[in-house]
Amino acid sequence: MDHTGQWLTNLYDLSRPALIRLLAHWGYSEYYADLIWDYVYRQDTGDIPDMDALRPELMMMLQEQTYLGHLQCERHLQSRDGTQKFLLRLADGQMIETVLMPYRDRYTACISTQAGCAMGCVFCATGQMGFDRHLSAGEIVAQVLFARRFAEKNAPKRSLRNIVLMGMGEPLHNYEQTMTAIDILTDDRGLAIGPRYITLSTVGLAPAIRRMADEKCPINLAVSLHGATDAERRALVPVARRWSLDELIDACRYYSSHRNRRIFFEWTLIAGENDTEEQAHALGQLLHGLDAHVNLIPLNPTGAYSGRASRRSQIDRFKAILAEYDLPSTVRQRRGLDIDAGCGQLRQRVLSAETV
Ligand code: SAH
Ligand code: SF4
Repeated sequence: MDHTGQWLTNLYDLSRPALIRLLAHWGYSEYYADLIWDYVYRQDTGDIPDMDALRPELMMMLQEQTYLGHLQCERHLQSRDGTQKFLLRLADGQMIETVLMPYRDRYTACISTQAGCAMGCVFCATGQMGFDRHLSAGEIVAQVLFARRFAEKNAPKRSLRNIVLMGMGEPLHNYEQTMTAIDILTDDRGLAIGPRYITLSTVGLAPAIRRMADEKCPINLAVSLHGATDAERRALVPVARRWSLDELIDACRYYSSHRNRRIFFEWTLIAGENDTEEQAHALGQLLHGLDAHVNLIPLNPTGAYSGRASRRSQIDRFKAILAEYDLPSTVRQRRGLDIDAGCGQLRQRVLSAETV
């Protein structure tokens, strides 16, 4: 809000069509939208007065009615393996996490879509915190800008290439804002990130997966499964009571056939819980015929959950059973563990670019 009590618009919240509409309302053509986006995303001009090629009247309108919603870095931790973790503060004081992970010559940024999460997965630090609020599209986009700035400044030889929506929150619970952010990230005149380099991870909101297919959302999809029977899955993922595994896998088949895309399935391995031979066989049968890839992620222990990560021999056995069903899988190396302490979500749980 400004000093007269008016709500200002965060420029990072606006998709290109929304900016074009705003400018049309002020009497400016699409050309000016391109000019502004060039400043905002290509040059990353952080302040409206620095957009000096704009006409003075347009600059004044922008200054009076809009702003650039930057995120403040509250804390920055660096892991021995090069993983960078940022605790970022939003305008209302909420805190979110953004993680930057190096892979050879590039970075992957793991970004948040909500402050907290309403889904309540028992092993997840964010789920244990509960839900505070959805992020706006601009708050999602600003994390990527923050990460890109950091990469350019501190590791010019390593560019930001991949984005995973695997930070705090459930992206499909915040569908509209997440999709607007994806439009801005993938727009050639926006952040121009190839859709194939972006992966959205969902706990499995079946109707929203179908909607992504209908709307031809171009990015990669990862579905967090963790259980291959309804009983096992519901014990770990409370929201699974809403949609049975049959309904979820039907939605995945629908997505797969409409988008003609491989789906990634995430499986957090918990010793004695979901790392059994029975679960591995059930998973192999469940995903039969789907173009699927399973990412096996050893549990990162969190405060309010007593489970432990599976042993290596058990992980290998699980993987071997999946292979019997021709189901490819990858065990995700755990990174940034030394800066994870006390917060289960601050870790590497990523579909790395190797499989994307
Ligand atoms: N809400 C989305 C995306 C954020 S969570 C989802 O659930 O998919 C991203 C991934 O991290 C999910 O697969 C989730 O199950 C996993 N995860 C969360 N807490 C974890 C933990 N303590 N150990 C291992 N994986 C975890
Ligand atoms: Fe939410 Fe994902 Fe954590 Fe489950 S695992 S509580 S859906 S952030």
